[in-house]
Parts: sequence; structure tokens; C-alpha cells
Amino acid sequence: MTDVVVIGAGVVGCASAIALARRGASVRIVERAGVETSGEGTGDGASWAAAGILGAQVEAAEDNPLVRLCLEGRARYAVWAPEIAASTGLDVGYRRAGALHVALDAEEREEIVGHTAWQVTSGLTLEPVDGRQARAIEPEISPAVLGGVRFPDDARIDPPSWMRALRLSAGQAGVQFHSGSPVRKILVSEGRASGVLLEDGASLRGGKLVLAAGCWTSQIEGTGLPVGAVRPARGQIVELSTGRRLLDHVIYGPGCYLSPREDGRVLIGATTEFVGYEPGVTAGAVRDLISAAVRLVPVLASASVTRLWSGFRPYTQDTLPVLGEGAVRGLILATGHFRNGVLLGPISGEIVAALAAGERPPVDVAPFAPDRLRVEGGAQRAEGGAQRAKEGA
Ligand SMILES: Cc1cc2nc3c(=O)[nH]c(=O)nc-3n(C[C@H](O)[C@H](O)[C@H](O)COP(=O)(O)OP(=O)(O)OC[C@H]3O[C@@H](n4cnc5c(N)ncnc54)[C@H](O)[C@@H]3O)c2cc1C
Repeated sequence: MTDVVVIGAGVVGCASAIALARRGASVRIVERAGVETSGEGTGDGASWAAAGILGAQVEAAEDNPLVRLCLEGRARYAVWAPEIAASTGLDVGYRRAGALHVALDAEEREEIVGHTAWQVTSGLTLEPVDGRQARAIEPEISPAVLGGVRFPDDARIDPPSWMRALRLSAGQAGVQFHSGSPVRKILVSEGRASGVLLEDGASLRGGKLVLAAGCWTSQIEGTGLPVGAVRPARGQIVELSTGRRLLDHVIYGPGCYLSPREDGRVLIGATTEFVGYEPGVTAGAVRDLISAAVRLVPVLASASVTRLWSGFRPYTQDTLPVLGEGAVRGLILATGHFRNGVLLGPISGEIVAALAAGERPPVDVAPFAPDRLRVEGGAQRAEGGAQRAKEGA
């Protein structure tokens, strides 16, 4: 019997486990894939596929609860990333290098600047730039760029390095990993979540459960969520390398974003496609992403293509994450982080840990309550859902 069983060892599950363990809880993560806690290994969840942009401002066209959560998420990185890098001895690629959103025509530039009006009134830091200033900041940017806005407080991280460090850090904090074990169903007794039933028929008991299974959340029975509440949204990424450091900022422009690495790699992302759980990289997407990237940074035309991949973002209909207890008591949902799950990992972990302890979370989670999905998604329940679960399945 563990205090808390966390389902899923992605960024949200690992950050939740660390935050729980720091509060003294005994924690076990159940993960269907193999997990190495030695700091090695890879995974197939979204957290390994992400571009690692911690872009709380660059994507924020208006003020809303998600943007506020993203700002809190970015602030948490300034604490979590150095701490975890120091305790594990790993470089997680955390850089507070800023983001630059650029335009190729006057209309686009006006639109970018217009979207930031609320940020100015909210006291967030940003700098409108013209084309010359953009090239002074990032000399490889095309002469066709007319300007845009710089967000100096946005940051980036290297997701595979971050994931290795999080898993290592979780292990250091005493978190146990039960890997290679897909969860089939949430078990309930006396009206509360009491454990998980694994695909091999075994079960694990926990005082509380945390569901952090990303886009696979809806495949697990008994969560109390409506059918298809969390769906996969495929994203494709092209990685190029010039062998020398090319950019410092994350660059957003028409048709793509560019997330640079110190070793000269540049990640170009990303598509958003609803193709079920079909992994793959398509010729059309690679063509479009590379064309858009070369328009912004012409020298990329001579870069080597070093890797292509796709991953599945956990999408909800209103694009908001799902945070909190839903229809099943004792089951804390931490899923549906869609485009911002890396950015929101540590803050989600802190929210989960506070909720598990019966405390007020550090951020108001009412806008992210699981119940809203019941209302908007209709009353249909998952096979084996809360009602049956409450009956003692
Ligand atoms: C191409 C792409 C680019 C992205 N770029 C960014 C970015 O720049 N910045 C950003 O903030 N976000 C980005 N995202 C989004 C981000 O990656 C996700 O929101 C985030 O990783 C979700 O984390 P998670 O832990 O919820 O899910 P995941 O990382 O998918 O982890 C879920 C885990 O649960 C496990 N699991 C699933 N089902 C079961 C089961 N039945 N039993 C046991 N274990 C199970 C899986 O194996 C997996 O390890 C991007 C995503 C994609 C695809």
C-alpha cells in the first residue's frame, strides 16, 4: 500500500511524484513503457517529443486562466530546473534566452503587436522590434523579416534531458517506478479510488491516485471522464543541424516555430493533426515546416536533416488542462495539457501535491475542473466509468 499511485511517467506524472515525495508521501509511478531511473532511457510519451518551449507570453494573445497558469508554470521553472539539474548533475538545457515572434509583412506585425496590448497593461515585459533590431538580436534572421515582438522572459528546455533528470530526481526522492505495466482500470472501494488494475491482472493499492496518462487517459476505464475527453493531437517535428550555434531565442513566425539548442540543432515545429493514435512523419509536413523555417532563417537551407519525429499532445475540446478531482473521489486528474504540458509540468505537480494533502492549490484550478468536461462533452460516461466504479468494480 502506497500513499499515492501516479499513472504515467511523463513530465506531469514525474513532476507530481516529485512534489508529492517532497511532502513526505510514499509514491509509486505506474508506467506502461519501460523506465530507466538511472538517467538513461527514452520514452514515447508527448514529453519526449516536445520542442521544450517555455513560452508563457509568446503564445498568449489574450489574458485568460490558461495564460495565467502558464505564467506560473514558467516561474516554477526558474526554481525547478536549476534545483533538479544540480541534484542530478545533468544539463537539462534550461535557458532563459527569450522568444522572438516575427512577421514577414506589415499586417502580421500589427497583429503580433496588437495581441500583446494586454501584456503591456498587465506589466509583463516585452519589446516591440523592427527588422533591423530583430537582426541585431538574432543575426541569422532573414532580411525579409519586418519586425515583431521580443519576450525576454520566455525560456526553453531540452525535453529528453529534462525527462531523464526528472526520472532520476524522482528516484532520488524515493519514488518507486512500476514500469512496463499498463493500467487497465481504476479500482474503487467504498466510494473512493483505492488502486489500479493492471493489464496483467495484478493490482496496486494506493491511498490516492493521480491520473497523468496524457493523451491515453481516455483509454483507462473508470476515470469518470466522458468518452474521448482527452484525445491525441499529433505533432510532427523536423530537427536540423548546422553544426554551430545558430540562434539563441525561440523564434515564432508564419507557419512554424524554431527551438534552438546550444550544439547547433534547431527543432522546427509543429503540425497539429487529429489522426487518432497513428504515429508518423509525412512528406507534406516536412516540406511545409522546412520551407517556413528557411523563409525565417535562410541559412537553414544548407543544414543537415538530423531527425524527424511525431508525438501526441493530450487535447481537450476547450484546450484547457484537466486538474483536480472529478467524479471519482480520491482520483486526482492531471491531464489534457495539450500544447503546454512541458511548461505546465512543475506547476501541475505542485497543484497535485497540494490537492492530495487537502490544501488549497497554489493556483485557482476552478477553470480546469474535470466537471466542465461532463457539461460540455455531454453526459455520456466511459465504459466502466464512475457509476460502475462506485458500485464497487
Ligand atoms: C510535437 C510536440 C511539440 C510540443 N512542444 C511543446 C513545447 O514546446 N512546450 C510545451 O510546454 N509543450 C509542448 N508539447 C506538449 C507537451 O509535450 C505535452 O502537453 C506534455 O508532454 C504532456 O505531458 P504528460 O505527462 O501529460 O503526457 P505524456 O508525456 O504523454 O506522458 C504520459 C505517460 O503515461 C503513460 N501511459 C499512458 N497510458 C498508460 C496506462 N494505461 N498505464 C500506464 N501508463 C500509461 C505513457 O506511456 C506516458 O509515459 C508538445 C507536444 C508535441 C507532440
